[in-house]
Amino acid sequence: MYCPFCRHPDTRVIDSRSTEDGAAIRRRRSCPQCGRRFTTQETVLLMVSKRSGVTEPFSRDKVIAGVRRACQGRPVGEDSLAKLGQRVEETIRATGAAEIPSHEVGLAILGPLRDLDEVAYLRFASVYRGFETLADFETEIEQLRAARTGAEG
Ligand SMILES: [Zn+2]
Repeated sequence: MYCPFCRHPDTRVIDSRSTEDGAAIRRRRSCPQCGRRFTTQETVLLMVSKRSGVTEPFSRDKVIAGVRRACQGRPVGEDSLAKLGQRVEETIRATGAAEIPSHEVGLAILGPLRDLDEVAYLRFASVYRGFETLADFETEIEQLRAARTGAEG
């Protein structure tokens, strides 16, 4: 790793320790060139595998960007989007898996989005589940109504 101050290509580790929750390792490093010190952190990257077989690190920003598109013109603020992104990430991390298929990210979005805005949920679900006919929407709307009645009764 390059020194962030002078870009020297080599640094020395002077101390390594786990964070309190054991989820990361922090290393104190020193640059032999300029003598400055800095800290790096090593964590497990949550990876998302796409249908193409390509994997990429999970990105909360990407989740939020996708939901934001579905929320265009809806009364949904950035605060709510940020909270939804957090919920989705928590749900996925709670599975304890180091790698998850991308469709599970979509699944984790559907629940919180339905609570947030039903129209945005329908838009997102129509793309995600590949709705092709009006009947697909009708079925989904029926289920939304049933869920709502259930919640009230
Ligand atoms: Zn340096």
